[in-house]
Amino acid sequence: MKHEFTSINGTGLLRKCDPKGCGNFGASRGNHTHRGIDFHVIPNQQIKAPFPCTVNRYGYPYSDDSSYKLIEIVGTGAYSNYRAKIMYINTFLSIGDKIDKGDLLCTADDITQKYGSEMTPHVHFELYVNNELVNPTNYFKNLV
Ligand SMILES: [Zn+2]
Repeated sequence: MKHEFTSINGTGLLRKCDPKGCGNFGASRGNHTHRGIDFHVIPNQQIKAPFPCTVNRYGYPYSDDSSYKLIEIVGTGAYSNYRAKIMYINTFLSIGDKIDKGDLLCTADDITQKYGSEMTPHVHFELYVNNELVNPTNYFKNLV
């Protein structure tokens, strides 16, 4: 069964295509494909929880660059089959903290500092259902 998520950037605005790539699920990334969707952000803006969740862990999207972080959340209640990774963020919650859908989860970092101003500033959202990677697009309403 499919649940409805809240847009994590408040607007539902997605990264389109820019000279560095496209923001849709499955977009080309050289030798692999894009594993999530990219939400257009203003660096430092608030990022909201897409569903009620627990903060599961923090990590680093780049093994050779610890300046960027990811947050992994696991759904609670009716959302317990869902797990998501959100990348290029700044954090303040603790592991194990529980928050509701739409609550403040983290803030956006500035990924364009790594790739240049041709890239649309964004946070990356990746969704797993029962530990299997899925296209998250249709779980959100009002994406633009
Ligand atoms: Zn991405």
